[in-house]
Order: sequence, then structure tokens, then C-alpha cells
Amino acid sequence: MIPYGKQDISAADIAAVNAVLSSDFLTQGPKVAEFEQALCAYTGARYCLVVASGTAALHLAVAAMELPEGSEGITTPNTFAATANSMAYCGIKPVFADIDPISYNLSPSSVSARITPATRLLSPVHFAGQPADMPALSLIAKKHGLKIIEDAAHAIGSRYSDGSPVGNCLFSDATVFSFHPVKTITSGEGGAVMTNDPVLYQRMLLLRSHGITKDPALLSQQSGPWYHEMQTLGWHYRMTDMQAALGLSQLQRLNLFKARRRTLVAQYNQALAELPWLKTPQEMEGFSSCFHLYVVEIDYAAIGKSRRQVMDSLMADGIGTQVHYIPVYHHPWYREQYGDKTGSCPVAERYYQHCLSLPLYFTLSDEEQSHVIQAIQRLAR
Ligand SMILES: *Cc1c(COP(=O)(O)O)cnc(C)c1O
Repeated sequence: MIPYGKQDISAADIAAVNAVLSSDFLTQGPKVAEFEQALCAYTGARYCLVVASGTAALHLAVAAMELPEGSEGITTPNTFAATANSMAYCGIKPVFADIDPISYNLSPSSVSARITPATRLLSPVHFAGQPADMPALSLIAKKHGLKIIEDAAHAIGSRYSDGSPVGNCLFSDATVFSFHPVKTITSGEGGAVMTNDPVLYQRMLLLRSHGITKDPALLSQQSGPWYHEMQTLGWHYRMTDMQAALGLSQLQRLNLFKARRRTLVAQYNQALAELPWLKTPQEMEGFSSCFHLYVVEIDYAAIGKSRRQVMDSLMADGIGTQVHYIPVYHHPWYREQYGDKTGSCPVAERYYQHCLSLPLYFTLSDEEQSHVIQAIQRLAR
């Protein structure tokens, strides 16, 4: 069985986790700090907090911005629900702008059209690993006084068109990664938030651990070594040292993971380009994408098969595929909460009708990939 994505755990990864198990720290300890420093070094951001999940990272970032209740945040419907949920957690109404038909990322002109006096936040997603048009989006944000949180759950290892790494926060207030096993590097569960803003960093630090601090510089009084204060209502979003050790070890191989993913994408593109009923993904000029997903668009009508029939037929050949994404506003909770937005993002809806994610992961062999390619080529027969 060839799944659409999977992790690769090396002997070095296992040794790194085992070493923590025999150490004094199972919960947040020295490996957490090391992982944070390594992520800062990799991305160039000043501050990093690693947390329990990518979702927790998004929630912390939005919460720490302390936006007024009733604010609106703009994001893409072509994402995992967590991006929009992070706004909903904080009483911010998620508003969906449409995507660009080539990059599948937020369309800056659609974002501009969705701005109202209540808009405070913009959360672009670097879909499938390809960075969104951050220069254009950050210009819009500056003009309207919006905060930006980049959801880079797909995009650790990717580079913007200026060659700088995703996560450096040069275009944003914060950038979030996920280390779920299906993502490019994993810590089991886990996530990180990067920022260059010392105030935002301090707030997130407090919110990560119940809103409690022991930092003498922050306490209102110095009663003794036991003394700590809960200064705000936070959560328990800490990462364990076992997870941090795994993430740190995986990070050493990120460039290797990226190179293999890019090779596989180039091979898919070359083999599938000739099929008139299939559209291969397009990398925008100058970008260097650390592809998390390999998404094609299929003209199901042209081959006389529904998407379900295609997925079933590939599954019969031992090939797992997936659909990324159902437009978030189609989900029942979103319909109930914010009304039926069907038709509001026609490009994302059309894209959703056609998309299919094919297997892409570090250990996918050339032979396995050929098997996938041949199964795809047979679909039209
Ligand atoms: C995976 C993912 C998340 C959430 O990450 P978790 O670590 O699973 O909480 C958020 N946004 C996007 C786009 C994702 O793909």
C-alpha cells in the first residue's frame, strides 16, 4: 500500500528520543530550547516557541494579538479547518477570500475586496508548500493596519521569491509550522510559532503555560523561590522534550527531505504533463517550494469517471490519494455559525471539484512512483 504521505523515522531519530527517555526531563526541558534555537537558526526569525500542535501554535498567535471581539480575519477556504478555527477560538469572524487558479494560494485582489472596517487579521496559507504572494499581501495589510499570521504548516523548508526562508517573518507578525507526521518534518504531534516581535513573543510564552510566570522581571512582588503568578488566562500547550528531540533530529534532514520531494515532483510533472485531462502543479517564478503535497487537477468528465471512481480504482492498485481541501465554509459548523457562503469563492470551489493529492513523501521510491504514474495513465482507458 502506497499512502499519500508518511513520515520517515531514522535510527538517529530513535536514538535522540531514547536519550531523552533516560534523562531527567520528559516534559519541557533542554531539548525544547534547543529545537527552538535550531528553528530560529534555520529560518532567521528572532523568536520561536514550540508547542503541542500546529493548531495550538495558530491559537496562541491569534490570542496574543489581543484583537477586539467582533474583529474579522481574512483567510483562504483552501486549507485545513484549523487556520480559520484559530480565529473563531478568539471571537474573530473568519472571512474567506478566493484563491488564485494557478498557485491555489490567496488572491491579493480577492483579499482587498473582502476588507471591511472590522478587518484586523490576515492569515495566508502556503498551500502544498508554495509560498503565498507575501509582498502583495503585506502591502495590503500595511495599508489597512492588519496583522499577518502565515500558516506555514505545509511550507517548512520553502523559500520566497527573494530566496529567503519561510518562517523569517519578514512579511508577517508570526509564522506557524506543524510537525504532524504527514508534514515534511515531524515531532509526533507538535508545532511552532516564529516571530520577530518581542512583545508578541512574551505574550505567547505566558499563554503557552496557563498564563503563569516565574520570571522575576515580570512578577508584581518577590515573595520567595516558590512564588509565581497567573497573570492571564492561558492554556497548556507545551511540547514534551521527547517530541522536541525528535523534531530537532528531523530538522537535520530537512534539506535532504526537500531535495527528494522536489525530485519526485519533477518526475511526476514530466510523466503527467502529456495527459490532456490532467493539470500538474505549477511552481511560481523564483519560488523554491518544499512540496508538502503533490496536487493535480483532473477533468473527471473527460475520462468518464467520478473522483470517487478514480480514488477507488487507484486504491485497488494499492495507491492512497486524498483531497485537499473541501472549502472550509462548506463544513456544517461554518454554515451554522456564519451562514451559507456557497458561491463566495468560485475559484476555490471549482478547484475543489477537480483536485486530487497523489502520494508524495521522502521514502517514496522511483519504482513506487512509476507504479502510481502508470495507474494514473491507465485511468483514461
Ligand atoms: C496540519 C495543518 C494545520 C494543523 O496542524 P496540527 O499540527 O495538525 O494541529 C494547520 N494548518 C494547515 C494548513 C495544516 O495543514
